[in-house]
Amino acid sequence: MTGHEIVLLMGPPGAGKGTQAARLAAERGLAKLSTGDMLRDHVARGTDLGNRAKAIMDSGELVPDDVIVGMVRATFESKPDLRFLLDGFPRTPGQAAALDALLAEHGASITAAIALAVVDDELVRRLVLRSEEEGRSDDGEEIVRTRMEVYRRQTQPLLDYYDGQGTLRRVDGSGDVETVTARLRNVLEEIEASSTDGRDDGRDDHDEPQVLHGASKGHP
Ligand code: AMP
Repeated sequence: MTGHEIVLLMGPPGAGKGTQAARLAAERGLAKLSTGDMLRDHVARGTDLGNRAKAIMDSGELVPDDVIVGMVRATFESKPDLRFLLDGFPRTPGQAAALDALLAEHGASITAAIALAVVDDELVRRLVLRSEEEGRSDDGEEIVRTRMEVYRRQTQPLLDYYDGQGTLRRVDGSGDVETVTARLRNVLEEIEASSTDGRDDGRDDHDEPQVLHGASKGHP
């Protein structure tokens, strides 16, 4: 398949974005663009950007939008066919607006914004496991709590934004890796089929509200 394809994988920490992004990108011939991986690479190489980002990442807060958007812009410029699976970007309304503008500059738009939904208990269980297996410096309990709170406050509102744009798809992220990949694959194939038919704009047929990770929108 040729032409632009921009798939966003969204969801709280521990939802399985990284794992699923790698699998889906390989299947669909997309480049995986993970801003978290790019930042970790800068930290490992000890670049200026990495040195500035490390403390922020270790606190669980977000790196400033201009830094992130600059990295994404450069990546888009290096692969102008714009076939990307975005993992962990955008995370703020500013980043979402910047992404739309960047894509518009290239005559492209978002194919699908997929929200992976997983209940809180399962998120925590996965993150504890990942901390033991990978030893990520931002997977400690206190930092995980901050990252979840940051997600709810700054990133979750983007789901409404993409819902309004007609690109949002909610996918159940519970179960084993292969089961979740199959659900995601189906969603993308459905969108592809409907866009070649020209009979649908990619929206959900049924728009039932679903609760992400057991919490309602906003935070007390
Ligand atoms: P991730 O691997 O996507 O969970 O990202 C790890 C950390 O990198 C986050 O907790 C943030 O500190 C930072 N980060 C990654 N992506 C972004 C982004 N799009 N905007 C701001 N900060 C980010």
